Amino acid sequence: MSIQLQDYQEVAGSGVIEELRVLADRVAGRRMQHINSTSVGGGVAEILTRLVPLLRELGVEASWDVIKGDQAFFGVTKAFHNALHGKPEEITQEMFEIFRANTEANLRDVNFTGDVIFVHDPQPAGLILRKREIGRNWVWRCHIDVSAPQPDVWNFLRPYVEQYDAAIFSMPDFAQNLPVVQFRIAPSIDPLSDKNKALERSYIITVLEKYGIDPGRPILTQISRFDRFKDPLGVIAAYRLVKKRYKCQLVLAGGGAPDDPEGEAVLREVQEAAADDPEIHVLLLPPFSDLEINALVRASTVVLQKSIREGFGLTVSEALWKKKPVIGGAVGGIKLQIIDGVTGFLVHSPEGAANRIAQLLGDRRLREKLGENGYLHVRQNFLLTRHVKDYLLTMQALEHPRESVVYLT
Ligand code: UDP
Repeated sequence: MSIQLQDYQEVAGSGVIEELRVLADRVAGRRMQHINSTSVGGGVAEILTRLVPLLRELGVEASWDVIKGDQAFFGVTKAFHNALHGKPEEITQEMFEIFRANTEANLRDVNFTGDVIFVHDPQPAGLILRKREIGRNWVWRCHIDVSAPQPDVWNFLRPYVEQYDAAIFSMPDFAQNLPVVQFRIAPSIDPLSDKNKALERSYIITVLEKYGIDPGRPILTQISRFDRFKDPLGVIAAYRLVKKRYKCQLVLAGGGAPDDPEGEAVLREVQEAAADDPEIHVLLLPPFSDLEINALVRASTVVLQKSIREGFGLTVSEALWKKKPVIGGAVGGIKLQIIDGVTGFLVHSPEGAANRIAQLLGDRRLREKLGENGYLHVRQNFLLTRHVKDYLLTMQALEHPRESVVYLT
C-alpha cells in the first residue's frame, strides 16, 4: 500500500499537510525512534504501522524497533498490564526479576539510534537505563489507563518512568504525579489504510458470505483481541437479551498479539459461550486482516466496544469513521470518543448495552444521526494527521525547549 502525503488533503483538509511540512522542517536532521513490544496485534502496533511511514514521507528520520521477549516475560508484562489497569493480580518477586533480566537482554540488543526515543508502554520501559550512558531525549508513551494502578507494580515501574524526560498519556485522567513533563496526546486512526478506507459493496458481501453471515439481518459486531478487558462474554450476554425481541446476528472477530499470552484461553471461553447459537460468529482472524475487518464493520448495524478497562480503544474511532453507531463501555479513552447520546452510547453493564442495542435496532434515523456525529468527531480529533502533528510538536518541545512551541491552527 503506497499512500502519499497529498492523499490526506482530501480527508483532513489542505492546510493540514502544509502545517505538517513546516513542523517537520523544524526537526530536520533529528532522528525520532519508536520502541515497543510487538509489530502486530493491538493498538500500539496499529498506530506505529501508519505513523512511522507518514513521518518518513514528511522527511523526518523516523524509525521503529521492537524488543524481544519470551513467553515468561510476556506473561509477566500481561500481568503488569492488568494490574496497572487496576485489576488485582498476584505479583511475585520472581516476576520483577524476569522483567529486569529481559530488560538487560534488550539493553544489549536494541540499537538506540534516535535523538528522541519514544518508548511505548511498560514492557520496554526499563530501556531508560541506557540514558545515563548515551544521553538523548527519552519519552515514555503510556497507552494504558494508569489512573488507579495496583501499587506494587506502579512502585516498581515508577523509578524507571521518573528517569524519562517526559511522559505522554492519552487523556488527562491518566496523568500521574511524576517529576517529569507530561503531554496529553490522544491516539488516532489512519483514514486511508486498508482498515478504514471506503470499500465496494460487492467486496463487503463477499466477506459476509465467506463467514456465513446473513447480509439481510441486523449485524452486531465487536472487533477485539480476545481479552477479558474487552468483555466478549458481556457482549454475548447483551446479544442474548436483545435476541428475545429482535432478529439479529453477533460477530465477535479478533486475533491475538504476540505480547498477549492470555488470548487463547479467552477465545476458548468465548467459543464455549457461543457454541449453542449458530448466529454468533466467533472469528479468529490472522494478522493483516484489515480489509476483512473493515468490511465486517461496514456491514454492521451496530458496533460494540464493551470494554471494562480501556486505554483508548481504536476500534471505536474505526467504527465511528464508518458512520456506525457505537456502544462502548464507559471507561478510559472510549469516553473521549463516545459523547453519550451524541456520537454513540456509553454503557456500564450487559443490560445497559442490550437496551441501547434494542433502541438502535428500532430506530434507523437515530443510528444515522449518531453515525454522522461520530464521523465528524473523529475527523476533528482522531485522525493520523493530528497525531503526527502532536509528535512533531513534542519532539520540537524537547529538542528546542527554549523556543516557544507554535500551534499553527
Ligand atoms: N485488530 C485487528 N485484528 C484483530 C483485532 C483487532 O487488526 O483481530 C485491530 C483493531 O482494528 C484496532 C487494534 O487492533 O486497530 C486494537 O486497538 P485497540 O486500541 O482497540 O485495543 P488494544 O488491542 O490495543 O487493547
